Amino acid sequence: MADNFTEEISLLEQVHVALGSASRLEDFYLILGSVLVDPNTFGFSRAFVLRYDERTRCFLGKVALGSTSREQYEQLREDLLAEARLLKDQEEAITRETGEPMALQHLYDLRFHSLWIQLLQGQEEGTDLNTAFQEVSLRRDKLLPGHLLESAASSAQARQFENSEAVLEGLDKFVHLPALAGRLVSKRGLHGVLIADRIFEDRPLDGQDLYHFQWLINHASVSLENVLLVSELTETTNRMREVDRLKTNFLSIVSHELRTPLTSIVGFVHLLAEEKVGKITPSQKDLLKRVSQHSTHLQNMVNDLLELAEVESGGMVNVELVPVDPLEALYAVMPKIEARRGAKNVAIEPSIMSTVPKILADQSALERIYFHLLDNAVKFTNEKGTVGIEFNRANGELDISIVDQGIGIPQENLQRIFDNFYQVDYRLDRAYGGMGIGLTVVSLLLRALNGKINVESTVGIGSRFTVTFPAISDGTETNWH
Ligand code: ADP
Repeated sequence: MADNFTEEISLLEQVHVALGSASRLEDFYLILGSVLVDPNTFGFSRAFVLRYDERTRCFLGKVALGSTSREQYEQLREDLLAEARLLKDQEEAITRETGEPMALQHLYDLRFHSLWIQLLQGQEEGTDLNTAFQEVSLRRDKLLPGHLLESAASSAQARQFENSEAVLEGLDKFVHLPALAGRLVSKRGLHGVLIADRIFEDRPLDGQDLYHFQWLINHASVSLENVLLVSELTETTNRMREVDRLKTNFLSIVSHELRTPLTSIVGFVHLLAEEKVGKITPSQKDLLKRVSQHSTHLQNMVNDLLELAEVESGGMVNVELVPVDPLEALYAVMPKIEARRGAKNVAIEPSIMSTVPKILADQSALERIYFHLLDNAVKFTNEKGTVGIEFNRANGELDISIVDQGIGIPQENLQRIFDNFYQVDYRLDRAYGGMGIGLTVVSLLLRALNGKINVESTVGIGSRFTVTFPAISDGTETNWH
């Protein structure tokens, strides 16, 4: 450690920053081990972090590092200085290139990491260091009384263990006494034990070392809390992602399996109803018509599920952004909407500006967006309403609005309607069918197309869904016909 007080404070500050920068436990241990053996900071010979596993009541560790002789120590010191010089050069080069001054602080933890990895990889077989990297696993209830691990684990204060008093069973291959040891604790209790030794005859451990070691343990415990929190969050997020992926897989497989028999049912019922295989009575025809309606409905639902699975698994992420005529896509989708509308008396009335510019999008994705928005507009409009389609151009963008006079959406639900399977009315006996998929598909598609969506709605009056795309002015605008 530096002789000068200000320098020492600045070094400790750097150690503090480095520890705080870790977001994974492995990084945290790397940084911890590195600062302990770094000749420019604590300069111990070796550092061990033995984690305590509450479930198995075992101390587990494989983190050990350092120089065991004066030559090795000097070599390490030299390597580090060379690396620091290299970093300084890189830093200056970056500053020159970008014009932005680059703080060494950012590189500090990198330096620790690379040092650690370098030492790990650079060791030859059979050297002391290599043996020190062996795994250690010691059961806490099997430790002899006064064992270094037990003593360190049960005291808030780090201390120096002398040759005579500590029992090193299971650790004697790695740790040389005298050594310093102290516990790392988190809110959940004992996290592990940190051990450091220095085995050069000409620089024995002293009171200053113990003071620094205690300082490090105190600070490390604070940083550890953050690391545990972040890694827990990351783990939960990863698990949720995995569940989500499995759900998408499941959706895709189930809907594929359902689709094949449904296609046969719809086809055969059609043949029967059309009397292609023989005469049927009017009441038989009536029943077949109902079977046909229900199986078509089922088919639509299965198709929606398949579409969601496809879009969610990234099937539409590679959409090609090209100039697309928004009216052409609308014409293409109209027959499908007519088919879904059935007997419902809802008029669809586009009110078009004289010319509509092309937009940067993907034709089939745009058709799917139209489809879901128009399908909802018709579905949530009671008899005799009108669904309008408006095109407005402003600031190099084209707004396409689907406006209905339907039931509207309460303000408090507006944020959530784009969530998977979310429906404002989720009761099983609700008046409107659907699975809460359409708007999820719309928002995923818009994300892939760099488009935006906005919803305005008043309960009992109606809703306006506006999607916005970059407009292209190349003189090939389409007239409404
Ligand atoms: P689905 O229509 O299959 O239920 P969506 O994801 O398309 O699924 O829509 C989610 C929910 O948003 C709907 O269940 C409905 O509550 C509400 N919603 C969407 N569009 C409209 C609309 N035009 N009018 C009223 N409510 C709507």
